[in-house]
Amino acid sequence: MTEFRHFINGETVEGRSGRYGDVFNPSTGEVAGQVPLASKSEVEGAIAAAESAFADWSRTSVVKRSRVMFKFLELATNERQVLGEMLAVEHGKILSDAIGDVQRGLDVVEFACGIPHFMKGEFSDNVSTNIDMYSMRKPLGVCAGITPFNFPAMVPMWMYAVAIACGNTFVLKPSEKDPSVSLRLAQLLHQAGAPAGVLNVVNGDKEAVDVLLTDRRVKAVSFVGSTAIAQYIYSTATAHGKRCQAMGGAKNHMIIMPDADLDQVTDALIGSAYGSAGERCMAISAAVGVGGVGEEVVRMLKPRVEALKIGPSLDAESEMGPLVTAAHRDKVKGYIDLGVEEGAELVVDGRDFKCNKQGYENGYYFGGCLFDKVRPEMKSYQDEIFGPVLQVLHAEDFDQAIAIPNQHRYGNGTAIFTRDGDAARTFADKVEVGMVGINVPIPVPLAFHTFGGWKDSAFGDMNQHGEAGVRFYTKVKTITSRWPKGIREGAQFVIPTLND
Ligand code: NAD
Repeated sequence: MTEFRHFINGETVEGRSGRYGDVFNPSTGEVAGQVPLASKSEVEGAIAAAESAFADWSRTSVVKRSRVMFKFLELATNERQVLGEMLAVEHGKILSDAIGDVQRGLDVVEFACGIPHFMKGEFSDNVSTNIDMYSMRKPLGVCAGITPFNFPAMVPMWMYAVAIACGNTFVLKPSEKDPSVSLRLAQLLHQAGAPAGVLNVVNGDKEAVDVLLTDRRVKAVSFVGSTAIAQYIYSTATAHGKRCQAMGGAKNHMIIMPDADLDQVTDALIGSAYGSAGERCMAISAAVGVGGVGEEVVRMLKPRVEALKIGPSLDAESEMGPLVTAAHRDKVKGYIDLGVEEGAELVVDGRDFKCNKQGYENGYYFGGCLFDKVRPEMKSYQDEIFGPVLQVLHAEDFDQAIAIPNQHRYGNGTAIFTRDGDAARTFADKVEVGMVGINVPIPVPLAFHTFGGWKDSAFGDMNQHGEAGVRFYTKVKTITSRWPKGIREGAQFVIPTLND
């Protein structure tokens, strides 16, 4: 059984609070370790370490900071397989998907290697006689990240890779369900040359988070997780004068036009609805068939969902692993029960799935479920389920179809499958969702673009990574400079205006 630690000021340190949480191996159902839940004073210690590291790190040349990122990229890339295994064991997603989780995080590190370009300011020569005006980007200070269980490598790297490259120092509070990868990556960043205190990892729960939200030394908070907590994080952090970006839950729709290639649609739905057991904020969880095509899609999907290979995360045969905890599995089951009660047609029922492989009988497995004839007023449709469940709705035409995601409270991702360029273009223009795929089921933007949903899927106005990430983690200073004559011109009592 692993006893996890924190990583503070360049060292792994034991928890001192006396409070612990269980870390499970969802494939076997066993408790694999105990994670310490940090007390207020332990989090304050991490913030103090980050604050004292800030003075030197923010003055370290931007080229040197970029070189630390290059080295970190190299070290972590060399360990990608091991990191993926670590992650797959604690999370339950299959190994190839877990390695993808690490890789998508490393893509942001790669983006952060180019930070000298993004830190460049603007310069206007001779805006008035002998006066130049220029701007510079400055880091904020100590920044904090609070992250979800479902992308334990990628989401933290969205945040700290950009923040640290910009010259900030960072306190990460990863999910208490799968902390190993963050702890290991912090060691690697340190090994790559980031001085002690630049990245600290404190494990914990609400008690730790509340310190990060209220301590005056923390200047910015990035959060990714469920919507109720995102709202709490956003309102508390901003009330304490911090910048905050808080990403929340999702219900992502795929619109299937009558002219779509249905083989392509079925493949796309199997991967995007059931991959990672549906525990992705960009999973397609609702499909809207237009003009009767939905009936054919359900007919084609049914045998594919029934045939999903569900098993241990490290088993090369598995297409889908278990859910993250028994509690989460029970919650997903509750939503399937609710959908049936509400009158949706359960075409494939995965509630009784059992893994028969020896040693894995007690894992948190759940079979793929497929609902047809789902209606927008159903609560099981309005809520995020976050499990291997696809809900199919039907619309008579394009206008009725696009109204369905537009009226949903969430607006994270969406996709349209069609051969009609006009429908695709109109959809991209009119849909009230932050990230749109055209014949692409999971349109997660690459690191040099930016990730963020709309409506109840995100609070705050700046997205993760890309240029928006750099803007979030820096503040602009604008300098007006006059050499050398102005000094001899005497006092002026009017606001400066342009003259020649
Ligand atoms: P969660 O909201 O339960 O937890 C997220 C983080 O918040 C964890 O670090 C957790 O320890 C902390 N936390 C939990 N309860 C808290 C409380 N009361 N006060 C303060 N902090 C608290 O989310 P999760 O179950 O870990 O992750 C799944 C959710 O994350 C889903 O809703 C999913 O859609 C969402 N998600 C969103 C995105 C996105 O970019 N929009 C990406 C990934 C996941």
